[in-house]
Amino acid sequence: MLKRKLLIIGIDGMDPVLLARFQDRLPNLKALVQATGQVHYESVFPPDSVPAWMSFFTGKNPAEHGILEYNDYVASQKHAEVPLDRVQGSSFWDLAGGAGLRVAVLNPFLAYPPWPVTGFMASGPAFVTGEVQGFPEEYRRRHQLPFMGGYADFPGEQELAGFLDQAERDTRELAAYANQVWEDIQPDLAFVSFLTLDRIKHFIWRYCDPQDPTYPGPTAFSDAVFKFYLLLDEIVGSLRAKAGKDVNVLVMSDHGHGRRCTSLINVNEILRRQNLLVCQGGAQVFSSRRLFEKAKNLVLVYAHRWHLERLLQKVAKRIPNKKALKRGDHIIDKEKSAAYLSDFDGANPFGGICLNASAYGAGDYESLRTKIIELLVNLHQPAGIKYAVVKWAKRREEVYAGPYLSKYPDVVFELEAEYGVNWSLFAEAVVPNPRHRTLSGGHLKPGVLLVSSSEMSRDLDRLENPMTLHRHVLSWMGLRDA
Ligand SMILES: [Zn+2]
Repeated sequence: MLKRKLLIIGIDGMDPVLLARFQDRLPNLKALVQATGQVHYESVFPPDSVPAWMSFFTGKNPAEHGILEYNDYVASQKHAEVPLDRVQGSSFWDLAGGAGLRVAVLNPFLAYPPWPVTGFMASGPAFVTGEVQGFPEEYRRRHQLPFMGGYADFPGEQELAGFLDQAERDTRELAAYANQVWEDIQPDLAFVSFLTLDRIKHFIWRYCDPQDPTYPGPTAFSDAVFKFYLLLDEIVGSLRAKAGKDVNVLVMSDHGHGRRCTSLINVNEILRRQNLLVCQGGAQVFSSRRLFEKAKNLVLVYAHRWHLERLLQKVAKRIPNKKALKRGDHIIDKEKSAAYLSDFDGANPFGGICLNASAYGAGDYESLRTKIIELLVNLHQPAGIKYAVVKWAKRREEVYAGPYLSKYPDVVFELEAEYGVNWSLFAEAVVPNPRHRTLSGGHLKPGVLLVSSSEMSRDLDRLENPMTLHRHVLSWMGLRDA
């Protein structure tokens, strides 16, 4: 039985540290911070939008729903098609609809195309082409649909101002539309998510962070991140005002977002030096593949040094299968290698190692895993800095259990936040991140979880995650016991 209506506002990449820093100037969010009290909310591993949103929607951990990334972490295969049958029917809004409640669902990440619900659902494409769609059609036709779905833009410095303006316009239009939908549909459960904050932070971060090594000094963008928090605060206020005082409100993010790693650890090179990774061409020092890999590393270093990343990016667009090139697929002999870095996307602190025990002469699979974990946790930043660079390294089943666990690499690990994993071979073990200037913001595990009432905050545990939050949503809707 419905206890109270619930409005869920999802904000991709809203970060608890920044929220705490800005909150005195964000009255609507601050009121929620005060109503929530102390709670620590952490995203899934790795804290990417895809697995995190799916876990919040379905209540399943990533090894249970198996929707981990656009790319498969292990097989490096593209999954353009999201297996929606694993979301449809088990999402919190489908469960609410099944119990006879009226729902309004706007812009759920990857839940596209929208499907029949008891109320209204609209979403846009991410990673695939297509138009924003809404169900049912009769309602969709009543108002112009705003932009929804993922962003594919990768703006350079010249395009940043236009990119920010567009992100602000899209955000405002979606908020206005959400208010209209609330009025028309009068849902028991409403969910709207804003994906723009995460997107702008990826590119704008270094302009707003004087501690960032690529901070350019004061510019027109210095306040851009704060201004976006201000915009979202205003939107949270307007959505709450439209919903009314008696409606429960949940504001949550899928992960946090802060400065991206400024150094990279060449994990494959470390494995190669341990004879765990073998290159094609064997010990041939002057093999063309090896020279090519070294040339690739040099190009990246000099592009960074001379601020030519943008040019390099444009050139790279013309290189077929450049991702494989970045991962060193052209040079690694995977048949003969016992271990190599997995395909977790991008330069992040979140990594995995794929194992091939048949190429490991000294023992079996488990002893190989033990060896890799020991190798990782004993990795130290060289040059006298006395701390480990790996926060933790674990067997994958120590992180999650589920039918899709094999989609995770055999060993998973997390680096300290200033480090990211990298694939380069025949390079130093630790190098400056040559791509930091083009992508300076990155995902963090702690996220934002805010509720509007003490009844809601009482239900929260000290440690929450997207799966537990899904269960709270069901209980706040009266669909399961707290
Ligand atoms: Zn995200």
